[in-house]
Parts: sequence; structure tokens; C-alpha cells
Amino acid sequence: MSKTTLPSIRDVAALSGKTVLLRASLNVPVKGGTVTNAFRIKRALLTINYLREQGAKVVVIGHIGREPEETLQPVHVELERAVGAKWCPSVTGEAVQAAVHSLQEGEVLLLENVRQDPREKAGDDSLAKELASVADLYVNDAFAASHRSHASLTGIPQFLPSYFGFNFLHEYEELSKAMEPQHPALFILGGAKFETKLPLVAKYAKQYDTVLIGGALANDVYKARGYNVGTSLVSDIDLRSEAILTKENIVVPADVVVDGPQGRRTVAATEVTEGESILDAGPQSIEDLLPVISSARTILWNGPLGNFEHGFAEQTEALARAIAASGAYSIIGGGDTIAAVEGLGIEEHFSFMSTAGGAMLTFLETGTLPAIEAVLARSN
Ligand code: ADP
Ligand code: MG
Repeated sequence: MSKTTLPSIRDVAALSGKTVLLRASLNVPVKGGTVTNAFRIKRALLTINYLREQGAKVVVIGHIGREPEETLQPVHVELERAVGAKWCPSVTGEAVQAAVHSLQEGEVLLLENVRQDPREKAGDDSLAKELASVADLYVNDAFAASHRSHASLTGIPQFLPSYFGFNFLHEYEELSKAMEPQHPALFILGGAKFETKLPLVAKYAKQYDTVLIGGALANDVYKARGYNVGTSLVSDIDLRSEAILTKENIVVPADVVVDGPQGRRTVAATEVTEGESILDAGPQSIEDLLPVISSARTILWNGPLGNFEHGFAEQTEALARAIAASGAYSIIGGGDTIAAVEGLGIEEHFSFMSTAGGAMLTFLETGTLPAIEAVLARSN
């Protein structure tokens, strides 16, 4: 597949004095009103700072959390510290208009969580139009949200000249590389919800030399093979008639860590008993994979190998260390995967860490995203 050149914010000759509506990826974890991980905010600053240096007036929009009433105020605290950003506690309306009107060149204004307006998720063009009305151009830097057809992502490009920011373009470049890997290539897919990941497995089994299915996804494979999976987390799909079950380059962990009536123990995947739950891959599985990891030229990894947030992080961490120590071009992503790897202090040993979860999977599967198509659909 040949890659499309996306319109970049760098292509805009005169940004000075222009009001730029920037859709950023600001969905960070918050505890007690404080941002606990500023990874995404740091990435967003690349584009924000570029726009400021060019003399633009920057109006930042984004979402946070799962509940519509959640607030971006904790993110504002960070952005105020970093770039002196102003704050407007509304999404649209007179307060927003007044705040935008008083912006000087090089200044930044953050608006409230765009999902507080129910028209955002509904993809309602009237919201897109209202947001667009305060700006001269639109920049999408929110790759991680761009698999959604929401007003701020697919709606606004209908009303403004539209470009992509540096974080977006970086994600696009790197994940495009993963779609055309150097061989030998290893794809590790873990986590949960096989129903959303089956097309990806089928596709990457053709493009990658080895595909390891791990995490709760492996439970579906064990089950389809007729193994006892006890009370393990399984998805709704039945893999018995799926071609992936018989493909030789698709592998699952041979040993697993279970918890149940006999306590925590490591057993062969064929030896799980009634009442036990598979919660991690076993150490032998990582040992088995080491030669594949060390000879790989490309490694793509999404999804933890176990229930890491509840004390079953061992093999996810061992895998992360092995990939980091390999000479392969390594691309890893997914909210939970990044969370599991953070704190090991090995982040800089990966070639690329994607901030995206669902968007990464959609992009890897289709080579595009709804919000990319929305921008490409207009000729600026
Ligand atoms: P990501 O956010 O990296 O894309 P997913 O959201 O697909 O990853 O999956 C991560 C979730 O899968 C985590 O909550 C993790 O605990 C869970 N998980 C992985 N393996 C297991 C397992 N064997 N049993 C239960 N949950 C698991
Ligand atoms: Mg997740």
C-alpha cells in the first residue's frame, strides 16, 4: 500500500495572527484533580509550541475520561505551567467567543472537555460549525481519537482549511512502517476483546513471519482447541471455524500462570483445571520467544500478556525488556501496554511508543482513520 502525504501544519505559510483550532490528545489519567501522567500533554506541546512560535492564536480542544461531565481543568494546570495557557470553562457560546477574541499572537486558550456537549459524540455538524466559527484553520493532532467520527474530529474539516500536527504525523509515519515490516517480523497481540482484533490477526499473519497471540486473547484459542480454560476471561467469539487456528505462524503461550483453588501456579496451557483463571503467560513462553525476538528486524506489540494491573505483570514486563534489548525496530502501543511498560525505565529503548489504542488498531487494520479521510476530503 502506498502512503498518502498528509497536509502538515508546516505547509501553512502564514500562521502569524491566525486563530488555529487545535484538536489535541489530552486524555490523561487524573487523580484527585491532578494529572498523574503527562505523556500525552508533552507530545501535544510540540505542535502547540510551533504554532506559538509562528505567532498563531491557539485554541485547544480535547476530551478527557469516559464520563461526559469530566473536566479538562487538571490539564489546564499543566498547560498553564508549560505555555501560560488560558482557560475557558465552556465548549461553545459567548464565553468562548470573548476568550478567543482577547487572545494575542502566540497565546494559548484551552476550552472545556468537548464531550461535555452531547453533540460531540453524536458527530453533530452544528457543533463542528460553532467550533469552526471562532478560527481561521483547523489542526488535528489527536491521532489517538481519530478512529471516532465525532464532531471535533470528522466534522470540523468541512468548515475550515485543515492540517495535521506533528504528533499526528509522527504516529502516521511510524505505524505506516509497521504495516510494511522488515523481515523477519514479529507481531505480538495481547490484551482482551478478540472480537475487535480478529481481522488484525488474519491480516498480520500474512505480513508478519510470526504472530504471538497473548493475554486474554489466547484464552479464546485454548478454548477453541478444546483445552479447559476454567474461569478465564474469554470473549464472545468462537474461533473453532477460523483459519487462524490452524496457521503455523500463529502461536500462543505454551505455559500460563493461573490463580484459583490451588493458589497461584504455573502450568502448561493444557493443564488448567476447573475453577482456575489464566492471568498471565508463563515464563517458558517468553524463553521460547527469545530467539524470535532477537532475530527479528521489526517487532510490533499491542496488548499486555496478562492481567498486569492486578499483580500479573511478570511476563508482560519480561517481554518488554526482551524487546527493548533487541536490535529490532520496535513499535509498541495501546493505553494499557504503555501503562504496563512505564516505570520499567526502558522507554527510550523502543523505536516508537504510540499514544493510541483503538486508533492504532483501526489504522493497522485499514491503513486510514475516519478523521484522516475527513481532512483528505477537502482541498484546502
Ligand atoms: P491496550 O490498552 O494496550 O490496547 P487492551 O485494552 O486490549 O490493551 O487490553 C488490556 C487489558 O487486558 C488489561 O486490562 C489486562 O488486564 C487485560 N488482560 C490481559 N490478559 C488478561 C488475562 N489473561 N485475563 C484477564 N485480563 C487480561
Ligand atoms: Mg486498553
